[in-house]
Amino acid sequence: MTQGRPGDAPPPRGGPDTGLAGLVVDRASAGYDAARRALSASAHQPPAEPAAIARPANIHGVVEAVRTARREGLRLAVRSGGHSLSATHLRHGSLALDLRDLNGIDVDPSRGTAWVGPGTTVAQAAALLDASGWSFPIGHSPTVGLGGFLLAGGHGWNGGSWGAACERVVAVDVITADARRSRLTPDSTPDLLAVARGAGPAFPAVVVGLELRLVRGVPAIARRLLTVGGEHAAQLGAALDTLRAAQVDGLELTVFARRATRAGAPADGAVLTVAATAFGASPTHASRLLAPLADLPGTGSADAAAHLGLASMVATLPRHEGDALWSDHVWTNRPWAELLPEVVQAAAAAPSDRSSILVTPAPASDPGIDAVHRPQGATSVSAYAHWRPGATDAGGPGGKGGEGDARSNAAWARAAVTGEGPHPRRYVGEADLTLPGRVEECLTLDALDRVRAAREQLDPGRLLWSALDPS
Ligand SMILES: Cc1cc2nc3c(=O)[nH]c(=O)nc-3n(C[C@H](O)[C@H](O)[C@H](O)COP(=O)(O)OP(=O)(O)OC[C@H]3O[C@@H](n4cnc5c(N)ncnc54)[C@H](O)[C@@H]3O)c2cc1C
Repeated sequence: MTQGRPGDAPPPRGGPDTGLAGLVVDRASAGYDAARRALSASAHQPPAEPAAIARPANIHGVVEAVRTARREGLRLAVRSGGHSLSATHLRHGSLALDLRDLNGIDVDPSRGTAWVGPGTTVAQAAALLDASGWSFPIGHSPTVGLGGFLLAGGHGWNGGSWGAACERVVAVDVITADARRSRLTPDSTPDLLAVARGAGPAFPAVVVGLELRLVRGVPAIARRLLTVGGEHAAQLGAALDTLRAAQVDGLELTVFARRATRAGAPADGAVLTVAATAFGASPTHASRLLAPLADLPGTGSADAAAHLGLASMVATLPRHEGDALWSDHVWTNRPWAELLPEVVQAAAAAPSDRSSILVTPAPASDPGIDAVHRPQGATSVSAYAHWRPGATDAGGPGGKGGEGDARSNAAWARAAVTGEGPHPRRYVGEADLTLPGRVEECLTLDALDRVRAAREQLDPGRLLWSALDPS
């Protein structure tokens, strides 16, 4: 990990000053299979094979890779952290641009901002921010890359108070399809900066650095997890509706629904876990924020944990290495008293008991900040399918497909978020973009027009693969 200006690290020793030395592997190279597998966080690998994979060490290497793609007539597919749940970074016949080495954070305490490399992971960011005495609404999972997370919109920690992460992006450095470097700022290119705040995999340039407006200080964090049988869903939802209406500053509430394990009860049911995370000025303040949880109905077990700063909390979170992943998403305005019983039913039908449905309030959004990302409902519902590829166990209720079957898991994630009628709205970071018309459900008509206009301006020759293209 570099600490200092991200992406400006020197080229590897002994190589020419391109940052690309020895780092382009094509299908004939011995390292191709491993490099291709390493592009994706998910163990489920769609059959797409990039023509070659480039892993630049710095910004010079990115420029060189863009030139190479132009020269060879290859389209570029960009990867920062490899957590796209629709594998948008893995395109057949492309030059895959793996930006994991453009990582690091450079904090400017006098401005309260930081430049971050797109390949910085949530865990790296948490450690570097804590050490500098600042915070940021980084993503919930330690291995997610900040590049794709911020471009999608960024529903991060303490989003109710700190807002959607993309609204804290104040400038973006890009390499455009003509291999030039430019800086997008609110003064020089307001429309392009707004597109970088939420276009996700439809963003039409290679991002090599992002400047973020930080949150001052390191919070004391207290966490409580309460597990409840699915039969209490309506009652729990009503209590959480009341708690959400109170809008307690610094209290993040997420409900996870999971199929009950065979050892659990009832056999074909689901359990709900309320994960309440409090961000306080002191440990006492943070635990005080959790006090209303004591009144929740039907709670099974309770666990409280305290942390100073994001890093130690993020370190306790599950990693999903080895899991195959898929997701789908929908926004809703329905009360949780009505929503949670349906979520329980959907979770109970999951082929894998590692999968979950996450129900969480939308991040705060400031209408004064121009962004194509906007929450399209008060609540975000994400169905995350997690499974072990090749697992042969009979799987979900009714024996529909084995646990290890990708198609059954993808079908489950899609079906779990169908409750919003014929015109659902979705989040581009978690929606299943393998389906036709999905990007159109993620962006408003006005936002889509702005993304298309940005593409005409920055990439008229279609060098970069985009989610606007048919998959
Ligand atoms: C386990 C897990 C947990 C998650 N948790 C959260 C969460 O808490 N909140 C949330 O909002 N989302 C979450 N997500 C969704 C995640 O934010 C998106 O999948 C995001 O795109 C991942 O970013 P990445 O850089 O890791 O992915 P990548 O697969 O590397 O990137 C995704 C796409 O973004 C584009 N892109 C990425 N980097 C660049 C770049 N430098 N320049 C131009 N285009 C680029 C490319 O089109 C690429 O295909 C989670 C996903 C997983 C798998």
